[in-house]
Order: sequence, then C-alpha cells, then structure tokens
Amino acid sequence: MTLPPLVCRSCGREFDVSELVWRCGCGGLLDVGGPWQPMVDESLTLGEGGTPMARSRTLAAALFKLEFFSPTLSFKDRGAVVLASLAAHLRVGRAVVDSSGNAGTAAAAYFARAGIACQVLVPASTSPEKLAQIRAHGAELTLVPGSRADTAAAAAEIADQPGVFYASHVYHPYFMHGVKTYGYEIWRQSGKRLPSAVLVPVGNGTLLLGCYLAFSELVAAGLAERMPALLAVQAAGCAPLASAWQGEHYRYAPTVAEGIAIAAPPRAEQILAAVRASGGTIVTVDDDAVVAGRHTLAQGEGLFVEPTAAVCYAAAAGAANRTGPGWQLVNDLLADGDVVIPLCGAGLKHPSD
Ligand SMILES: [Zn+2]
Repeated sequence: MTLPPLVCRSCGREFDVSELVWRCGCGGLLDVGGPWQPMVDESLTLGEGGTPMARSRTLAAALFKLEFFSPTLSFKDRGAVVLASLAAHLRVGRAVVDSSGNAGTAAAAYFARAGIACQVLVPASTSPEKLAQIRAHGAELTLVPGSRADTAAAAAEIADQPGVFYASHVYHPYFMHGVKTYGYEIWRQSGKRLPSAVLVPVGNGTLLLGCYLAFSELVAAGLAERMPALLAVQAAGCAPLASAWQGEHYRYAPTVAEGIAIAAPPRAEQILAAVRASGGTIVTVDDDAVVAGRHTLAQGEGLFVEPTAAVCYAAAAGAANRTGPGWQLVNDLLADGDVVIPLCGAGLKHPSD
C-alpha cells in the first residue's frame, strides 16, 4: 500500500500517516502532498462508487448522479472505505468520527467490516433514521447536545488520546482523495469529457474538494481541456461560505439541510480557493425551495432523496427566478449545456421535511 505523508498546509511540516496526527502543531490543516490514487483494501470494499447517472426530466441541462445507490445510501462511502483501509493497515484498535449523520454511518459500516471499534459522535438533533443506521452497525453512538461544532469539539478531544484513529471526513485528507472517484466517474460516464459545471451541496466541502482534486488531476494529465465550474450551494440558514464569497451576511437559522449545516467549516479557505480557480460561484437556497425541490424530485423525477440532497436541484430549478450575485453564472451554465447534480443521500435517511 502506497501511503503518502500528510503535509501541513500552513508550515509545510510532514507527518507519516502512522503517527495518527490529524492537525499540525501549528494549527494548520493537513493535505496529501501531490497526486495520489488511494488504495482500497479489497477485503473491505462494499462496491461503493460506480453510481448511475440519469438525465433529468424537469431540467433539460441536468444529469443526476445517483449517490444514494451507495452501500450506506450516501456518497460518504467513497471516503470511508479509504480511511477504514488505512486504519486496518495501521492495525489501529479504535476509531472515532464526528458527523451530521452520513459520514458517521459510512464509518460505522466500514469500520465494522474492518473489525475496528468505532465511536460516532453526532448532534443530538440528527434524524432518528440515521441514528438507527449507525447503531445497526454496532458503533458506539454518542449524541452531543448543541451545534455541529460542539460535536466536532467533543470528537477532537477523543481523537487526541493515544492510539485513536480520527476518521474525520474534514481533517483526514485521505477521505477527500477517496471522494475523488466521484469526479473521475463523471468524466468516464460523460464519454471521457467533463461537463460545463457541477453543482455541489457544501457544508464542510468534502464533495467539492474531492471534485476539485479529481478535475485538477484530469486537466493536469491532459485528459480534459478545462475544469467544470464548481457551483457550490449552501442552505440560506447556514451559509458562511456564501457570506464570505458575496460579502453579505446571512442570518443563521435552523435548516432542513442538516447535512450541510456547518457554521464554521475548517477548510473554508480551501473551498473558496477551489471555487474561484474553477470559475464557479456560491449561491444559497432557502428551506421552502429545498422542500419544494425535494417534492418535485420525488413526484416529477421518481427520485426520493433526503433534504440535503435536494439543495442543488432546488438551486437549479429555481435559478431562472433568482437575481443577485452568482445567479447569472448559474443561469448561463444551465442554458449552455450539461451540468451534473449529485443526489447525495437517500430519502429514507430523513423521510419527513
Ligand atoms: Zn504546520
């Protein structure tokens, strides 16, 4: 197994992955130094990835990528299999992860398969269906009162104990490299070309950064001419990245899009830089639009997804009626050609609105 070191984005210090370091002593976040095709332990794979694409019947320009076909019903399996493979290789005895639900479910499943004890921390408000999924895989489930940030802080304390593997989809850069398969598949399924744009729901930015890595590598290898515009979509009730992008402040409010309700994403700067480099933008949709989009997906497209997974469809479906920063670009790209919309998580994960 080729295991590249982790490199601090701030000071450049390198760490061997066996050190189980998840953040540099200087406070900097870690990346993988250079291109890397992640290794997956064949005994741990559950057939993640390889999800189908289907053309939308209600949006002429859009193709859906059906990520809810994944083994635990969300795209997070793409990264979880890589972290479980790494943890098994390093023979760690205990893993911890914090999540708004889906990453924790994916970790619970893959660490169960790897025979590694896994503690999953989630906000107490997480949907009961996701909690049931996590419990079913035998993970130690801890409900943390307060915000998603409170959950992350509780996990970080456990992660700092000796011998604990922090299977964080935010901090461990191997996870993002696992998510890259999403971008490579879009290229392959589109006839070895890239679409003009991809929409991505963004909270901690895992899928967006995975896309950026994949598309950058494809362009650098001469396999694609240019990168698709990354169109990041946030819930209006929790839109720190849109606020930073547009220079406007969004008022915080609870949102049905629990999977992207991240008030202070640790990789915010990296996400903003990726969107900028792609020629994309960041827009927001409110909960009414998300709920309406979810119903149209179910009733006009035959696709039942959780609210967070309807955010990008809601943005594309409502774009024609929106004005303001970013929307002209979204409308131009929708008028122009193919855009890919991920349907990240299954409807049964959060059946009610
Ligand atoms: Zn550092």
